[in-house]
Amino acid sequence: MEKARLLEFESKCVQEEPPYCQAACPLHLDGRALCAFVREGRLEDARKLIEKTLPLPETLARICDAPCREACRRRELGGAVELGALERACVERGPLRRAPLLIPKNGKKVAVVGGGLSALCAASEGIRKGYSVAVFCAEDRAAALTALSPLITDEIARRELAWLEKGGVLFLPLEDLPPLSELSVRFDAAYAGLDDPLAVCATAEATASVNPVSLETSVGGLFAGGAAPSFILRAADGRRGMKSAERFLQGASLFSSREKEGPYPTRLFTSTEGMTSAEPEAVPQEGYSSEEAVKEAKRCALCECMECVKHCAYMQYYKGHPKKFAREIYNNLSVIQGTRLANGMINSCTLCGRCERICPNGFSMAD
Ligand code: SF4
Ligand code: SF4
Ligand code: SF4
Repeated sequence: MEKARLLEFESKCVQEEPPYCQAACPLHLDGRALCAFVREGRLEDARKLIEKTLPLPETLARICDAPCREACRRRELGGAVELGALERACVERGPLRRAPLLIPKNGKKVAVVGGGLSALCAASEGIRKGYSVAVFCAEDRAAALTALSPLITDEIARRELAWLEKGGVLFLPLEDLPPLSELSVRFDAAYAGLDDPLAVCATAEATASVNPVSLETSVGGLFAGGAAPSFILRAADGRRGMKSAERFLQGASLFSSREKEGPYPTRLFTSTEGMTSAEPEAVPQEGYSSEEAVKEAKRCALCECMECVKHCAYMQYYKGHPKKFAREIYNNLSVIQGTRLANGMINSCTLCGRCERICPNGFSMAD
């Protein structure tokens, strides 16, 4: 089979598509993996996942407005899984955050204007990309975070800021921000977080009109975002802005292949047949205890397709799903024609055609 034909064939199987919650999350946190860790009591692994995915984990895990709920497969069966409350439990009940990984600097300097959530998320993304990041903001930096929610105490805000500083972020007074016309002399790119009124004032001449995809402003190399009311969307703008800065610095297109940066509908299919309705674990004011978190995580359906596998002893025996098998068979045939697992797999299929009838996309192992 030709490679192109194989890819087209493989794409019919949606088993490896992201779960509904992950595709709908503006920062694409894998809620399915999170629930799998929490239900096994592996809060440390769950916390690592949160730290890896969220640019300001201590803050976002406590205040996310959880737009993923709308997409959760459990929504009609008792209610969406309380992912926000689970994330909060992981950062509050799990071990303390690890020190930042010190990424070697790549010689590029990026300015971040503002001290709000969006700007700090952009700064966090910037140091993860190896940029030297300078944040120009008001002197009382913790205040911008504590103002977001009573759940963000002064101690939490200071911990978050200290983590950024340890990671290499340099905080400077807003008064030291060079005029926008001179920004490109001192910095290779810049991002303005428009959830901070001071940043709005400082960049007003450039940010009156911002492209919604690239977050470009009227000043080349200056990107801006974060004006949305939703906290998680402000954070996502910080990430998008830093991705645009990266593309700008690499001379790459600011627009191509960005459809899946924000929320998008997944192609995954998960049947709810046989799932029973169950109410979410009520979220107490002080957040879930570890036991309550485990109970809620157990409500997660760990969404996947596997419809054909449920009805096929042959696929169960080979422990996989058609997309994986198609890849293995193709690799096996193209590398060596000997007696290999894939050959046994091919010979074991009885060509009954059941998978094709069951699959929502008509994937046929017989083909
Ligand atoms: S049931 Fe679990 S995996 Fe499925 S969408 Fe909801 S949180 Fe995500
Ligand atoms: S609660 Fe927020 S961060 Fe977590 S998965 Fe949902 S949208 Fe993403
Ligand atoms: S039914 Fe089988 S082949 Fe079809 S999408 Fe689901 S796992 Fe893939």
